[in-house]
Amino acid sequence: MAQGSAVAKPRWAGNGMPAGGVALIVIYAALVVSPLFIAAAFRPVSSHSFAFEMGKGAGLAGTMILVLNLVLAARLRWIDRAFGLDLVMRFHRAMAIVGVVLLTLHPLLMAASDAGWELLTSRSLPWWITLGKVALLLLWAQGITSILQGRLFRYEVWRMLHNVLLVMLALVVLHTFARKDIKLPVMQVVWYGAMGLAVLAWVMHKLVWPRKDRARGWRVTSVKQETHNVFTLELSPPNGTRVPEYLPGQFHFLSLYRDDRYNGEEHPFTISSSPTTEGALTSTIKASGDFTATVGETMEGAQARVQGPFGRFSYLLAPSDDLVMIAGGIGITPFMSMLRQMRDTSADLSVTLLYANRTEEDIAFREELEQIATGELPRLALTHVLSEPAEGWEGEVGLVNRDKIHRFVGGDLSEKTFFVCGPPMMMNSVVRKLRKLGVRAGQIHTERFAL
Ligand SMILES: Cc1cc2nc3c(=O)[nH]c(=O)nc-3n(C[C@H](O)[C@H](O)[C@H](O)COP(=O)(O)OP(=O)(O)OC[C@H]3O[C@@H](n4cnc5c(N)ncnc54)[C@H](O)[C@@H]3O)c2cc1C
Repeated sequence: MAQGSAVAKPRWAGNGMPAGGVALIVIYAALVVSPLFIAAAFRPVSSHSFAFEMGKGAGLAGTMILVLNLVLAARLRWIDRAFGLDLVMRFHRAMAIVGVVLLTLHPLLMAASDAGWELLTSRSLPWWITLGKVALLLLWAQGITSILQGRLFRYEVWRMLHNVLLVMLALVVLHTFARKDIKLPVMQVVWYGAMGLAVLAWVMHKLVWPRKDRARGWRVTSVKQETHNVFTLELSPPNGTRVPEYLPGQFHFLSLYRDDRYNGEEHPFTISSSPTTEGALTSTIKASGDFTATVGETMEGAQARVQGPFGRFSYLLAPSDDLVMIAGGIGITPFMSMLRQMRDTSADLSVTLLYANRTEEDIAFREELEQIATGELPRLALTHVLSEPAEGWEGEVGLVNRDKIHRFVGGDLSEKTFFVCGPPMMMNSVVRKLRKLGVRAGQIHTERFAL
């Protein structure tokens, strides 16, 4: 890999959320409520009770939420740039729950008011009502598989099952097809427009972009063992093409095509190299589950698919000249990318890194980190913290707690910008401690290794 010149922050990056983010929030809210407004505006007088109309409204808004969830899940670059994919996926999950609740209320409110309970119990109902019920059952099944994901199913099986949402939407189209409200021309534009957009997003995300990314022909050009269970894969685009522009700390989705095992299965990994490095990028991966356990067996030359970059966990998006990085285990990867970039660009910054591991054997990048710490810029103060050190360890012992934060970060915490990445329990505990020490939520940036 060759060293390039200094990386400029891309134009889209801005500081904080780009203005486009506010526009996206407004468009989202408008789309969710627009069917309600259209129905109310064009049919102001109803022969039905208020509860019945509320039931209809719950169905319209709930469907819109699920339709837009397909768009949110499509990893659209402009949505990621505004909010970061992790936040988008958390919102996607929260809105899925809201959608399920609204669509469950839809028949309940109608049955409890004008339609009567036979709406739920009778077997001789019009076909379109039966289709609506099947759609609701499919939706509940989706909810249950989502809750059991990781316990009863592998993540990938659950993702495949999640595509059933498209069948559910097709049933909803048939269920609503001849309804008076949906027949309003302006409603048809919004209703079918949103559904068309969602299907297009799904087709691009699941079928078109993966094929395009694979056809780009990335290769694994080296596999390096960092610790007993951590490996770095170097990934190179085909000759003559450039590595996509990325910020230090961002991640991508990686698929490997090696043999029959996990072929094409994609997983998110931080880009651990610095954007100052030309011609290739790296991901450093810890064996933690079935896919990651086989990463060290990858042969040089294996075909790979890379989709990205994504995320907003980068110091370039939260400018400050006094940074504190708190890493747990493999959570060091985004910090490696940032520190390498700072070193290569001689960034005039003070950085405190608290790097927590279980044992000395678990510390990845130990030498390189020490070299950066003894170099001139950035001014890196590095502290290793081990929770289960072997005899003879003279460094810090235990967990990253308030005492260690005080001792190693010190000074006025309100002037510093914190970045935290590590196992979920450690991250939650560190963030809680920082908040108790008076650090504002806006000063703390986190990256969760789970979408
Ligand atoms: C933004 C981000 C950056 C990451 N960076 C790194 C890194 O630099 N190095 C590293 O070692 N790990 C990183 N991870 C974690 C890595 O993605 C998981 O450890 C890996 O996907 C687990 O796969 P598995 O099949 O080996 O384990 P499993 O035991 O099958 O999965 C463990 C858990 O990982 C999650 N997961 C599994 N597959 C996927 C998937 N395809 N997409 C999303 N989540 C999935 C699920 O929550 C699952 O329950 C990162 C994760 C995220 C979200």
